Amino acid sequence: MSVPFLDLRGTWEELRTPLLRACAKVLSQGRYILGDEVAALEREVAAYCGMNHGVAVGNGTDALTLSLRALGVGPGDEVVTSPFTFFATVESILQVGATPVFADVDPRGFTITPATVEPRITARTKAILPVHIFGLMADMAGLRALADAYRLVVVEDACQAIGATWRGFGIGHYGDAAALSFFPTKNLGGYGDGGMILVHDAELAARLRRLRAHGSAIKYIHEEPGWNSRLDELQAALLRVKLAHLPAWTSARQALAARYDAGLAGLGLQLPWVPAEANHVYHLYTVLVPDRTALQRFLAERGIEAHVYYPLPMHLQPALSGLGYRPGDFPVAERICQHALSLPLYPGLTAAQQDEVMRGVRAFLHRRGAPSARAEKEGR
Ligand SMILES: *Cc1c(COP(=O)(O)O)cnc(C)c1O
Repeated sequence: MSVPFLDLRGTWEELRTPLLRACAKVLSQGRYILGDEVAALEREVAAYCGMNHGVAVGNGTDALTLSLRALGVGPGDEVVTSPFTFFATVESILQVGATPVFADVDPRGFTITPATVEPRITARTKAILPVHIFGLMADMAGLRALADAYRLVVVEDACQAIGATWRGFGIGHYGDAAALSFFPTKNLGGYGDGGMILVHDAELAARLRRLRAHGSAIKYIHEEPGWNSRLDELQAALLRVKLAHLPAWTSARQALAARYDAGLAGLGLQLPWVPAEANHVYHLYTVLVPDRTALQRFLAERGIEAHVYYPLPMHLQPALSGLGYRPGDFPVAERICQHALSLPLYPGLTAAQQDEVMRGVRAFLHRRGAPSARAEKEGR
């Protein structure tokens, strides 16, 4: 039995009729960018997340970039963020001319924390940019309190975390803005690129609406230079069809995660951690394993696809070599990058497929011997 890492065609088959109907409606209407479907999606996603305003943009990277710009982050400013993320997080900081400053992550949750961020704050710090990695929110109550104490703004990278909560509050609640991505593989994925910014504040939403459309609110009057970063009607219409299923898909992810938790317990792997404050939406199910590369290869030989998110932390990326970071600067993030392996988890993954993954993992660990058994054998 082969187990793909992700299979997006299942959703297409499940929703073929309403998706095609939504396309036909848009195509026949003759308005293709920023129309009624986008406005409706903005309202519906904001409501789903418990936020006042949604501003749809071209992708998640732009959602981050425009948020920083709209909140006044620019050249000379420092933004404290996570070294354990996708490069887009850091790119958004560079795009507005600010400097990324890294804080190490928590060894269990893989997110930055008030304790790791505070020592990194300087007189030039303007913002904190936590990443809700793999679908687990950072300690947002703590980071908000820290930001208030130092008069900083908070932009949440929630690209992997739609529907997640911390102490019952969703993404965007504790921040000044939260960025979502609708990249096809995300928990709410479109059929192309897309993104959205969630904010509380009406004035901030209005500025973001200008920034996504050449800095213009009134046609041909440009108040500031902006971007061309808009969502098209087709994507919005398709995403609205899928949004109706997101609660069920999130529950399916959580049920699959619980099955992995039960089936992989006690094997010497570090399984995903869920603090009491958090509702985890499992964009990815990621374990830490001593011999990650060997396990990935072993599973591949059995037809099971497991992926590495992420092999190289941000502070060691070639593009950031000018910032002067060195191996060893953020040991927790570096260790996670060496040992993390994400297992197949998506709505539609069958119990039989999941059992096959777990059999594969167990077979590998028994073949190699658990780390403690191996250490004993080797007389350590
Ligand atoms: C996907 C992702 C982004 C970027 O989103 P795009 O829509 O691909 O631009 C940013 N940050 C994180 C953590 C992501 O997973």
